[in-house]
Amino acid sequence: MLAAIEDVDRDARIEAVVLACAGRTFVAGADIREFGQPPREPHLPDVIDAIENCSKAIVAAIHGTALGGGCEIALACHARIAEPGASLGLPEVKLGLVPGAGGTQRLPRLVGLDAALELVSTGRNVKAEEALRLGLIDRIATKDLRQEAMGFARELIGKPIRRTGKQSVVGMEASAAAAKLAEVNRKARGAQAPGKAAELVLLAANLPLKDGMARERETFLALRSSDQSAALRHAFFAEREVTRVPGLEGVAPRSVQKIGVVGAGTMGSGIAIAFADAGFDVRIVETSEQALAAGQARIADVYDKQVASGRLTADVRDERLARIGYGVGIDTLSDRDLVIEAVFEDLAVKQSLFRALDAVLRPGTILATNTSYLDISLIGDATSRPSDVVGLHFFSPAHVMKLLEIVRTEKTAADVVATGLDIAKRLRKIPVVCRVCDGFVGNRILSRYRLQAEYLLEEGALPHEVDAALETFGFPMGPFAVSDLAGLDIAWARRKRLAPTRDPRERYVDIADRLCEAGRLGRKTGAGWYRYEGGKREVDPVVTALVEESSQRRGLTRRPISPEEIQARIRAAMVNEACKILDERIVERPLDIDVVMMHGYGYPAWRGGPLFEADRVGLEAILGQVKERAAQDGPGWEPAAGLVSRAASGVRFYP
Ligand code: NAD
Repeated sequence: MLAAIEDVDRDARIEAVVLACAGRTFVAGADIREFGQPPREPHLPDVIDAIENCSKAIVAAIHGTALGGGCEIALACHARIAEPGASLGLPEVKLGLVPGAGGTQRLPRLVGLDAALELVSTGRNVKAEEALRLGLIDRIATKDLRQEAMGFARELIGKPIRRTGKQSVVGMEASAAAAKLAEVNRKARGAQAPGKAAELVLLAANLPLKDGMARERETFLALRSSDQSAALRHAFFAEREVTRVPGLEGVAPRSVQKIGVVGAGTMGSGIAIAFADAGFDVRIVETSEQALAAGQARIADVYDKQVASGRLTADVRDERLARIGYGVGIDTLSDRDLVIEAVFEDLAVKQSLFRALDAVLRPGTILATNTSYLDISLIGDATSRPSDVVGLHFFSPAHVMKLLEIVRTEKTAADVVATGLDIAKRLRKIPVVCRVCDGFVGNRILSRYRLQAEYLLEEGALPHEVDAALETFGFPMGPFAVSDLAGLDIAWARRKRLAPTRDPRERYVDIADRLCEAGRLGRKTGAGWYRYEGGKREVDPVVTALVEESSQRRGLTRRPISPEEIQARIRAAMVNEACKILDERIVERPLDIDVVMMHGYGYPAWRGGPLFEADRVGLEAILGQVKERAAQDGPGWEPAAGLVSRAASGVRFYP
């Protein structure tokens, strides 16, 4: 490209230029695998400078996705025209970086500070229409992108060239700028790149392009070798690697188009929506007309809200709603290719449902359960075809959350697991294949994390202090706030179920039980770990008293607990349980666990997941904490064999 620009400059016959790309897309950004390697010349900023400084007008003709370095190339051209379906963006912050070839300096020169701050700090892509409105592009092609780009270029011949870097930017009041920065950093929850990117954008109002770019380069290089960027790159690749499950190479999935959903409660409705959104033919059934109507209303409500907020047109809503059929009883599911149940979390209920489904469904139909904790082998054994039974564990809300745990029993057929992966892909979800254990990967780790959080209460912390420490850590919400949101009753039912088999030596905290007994089931009852005034969470003296009373009853002297201690203990609890999951071969790879925690439980992606981070924290240090916990907290907290051996041998999770 550099050579071509030099030719253009020299060749007197050339008066204007169109820069277009062959193939599926305009330049779509850097190859992330190259990041670890030394860059080779010519460097992109130099190529881009040559474009901007060219003596002939250059028009970018954009199709596909002009992202990152590709977007920066387009920004430096003298005019931009895009196909209607094209999109542009600077997604670098998603990898812990800032744009490295002038993006932070040129974008505000085209769209102004406000829009540039938002786009660069979130890494969001914009479609052609919005790009036109913002001034990021000048035209949208109506028919033939290249022809129209050439016409555009001809119009520019003989006119003064508009160089992006020479445009001035309307500044922002210092106080407004500071407020914007604070807002960006708050939303970033500990990720550093968004704030750095915003700071660079603000410079564009005060510094000439060259100086702004020097600052941008400095920041880019510093971030490129940062732990956060390494973690985000790990997250990026892990998200792709999870779908390549060892042992399933070449196994063909079964053909699935017709879906049955049993139960139209919270999860069933969300699951039906997820499938309808992806174009499947869905039929959802309930036990009564009344429950069915409630489910139907819930589904309609989700779609109506999407229309009201402008995310969906009324036509698309109607199309999707038309894909969902409703019925009472399972008899009408006989033509389905896959049936997933989301009925009450009760083994006997699920077993009798599966027995009934077994009698109705044709051979080859996959029977899936959305259970959170139950033993799927026992559900499968209730049928005559346990090899067709699999767990498809969606997260709430099922049409939003990206994670899907695919749980295989010893008897699940390989092509059933492969079908789960295929379905996840069609639903645009991120699948993690695992084996059966109580809570599978995510809820099993979450249970440990919650227990440890409750121990902290008894020892001296209050719910809002634990939540604050973990929100500072980077979780969107602390465990007590999450529990209020989800409802305390689900975990309460599980505790009651497990009570008869619980090891009496196990350290048990009954504060949550007392809250439930008092009717405090979380937000839906107006109070739980917090009280809610107009939807805002507030510390409740009643809970504080309950916590303090519990400490007293256990004979524990309350002491101040630092955020660092809270974070370290929660981390140790998660890493140790994750190691046990690996020891038991519930999953084969550390990356499966990292992906579950990042996509299902809000573990900050800039930390790369608990195991990626554990390598950096040091396994010996974590083992030290785990041993301390085992001594304090007793059964259930013993160090995992895999953690002990890794710490001793120095082998990391990601060698
Ligand atoms: P819910 O109480 O909201 O819905 C259950 C629905 O199933 C009810 O509408 C009920 O009428 C219906 N139902 C019960 N028995 C039935 C039968 N035999 N045939 C047809 N319908 C029947 O419960 P939920 O929160 O949606 O949970 C459902 C399942 O999903 C549970 O196994 C739960 O553990 C699991 N899960 C829940 C969440 C969550 O966050 N709520 C997340 C993941 C998984």
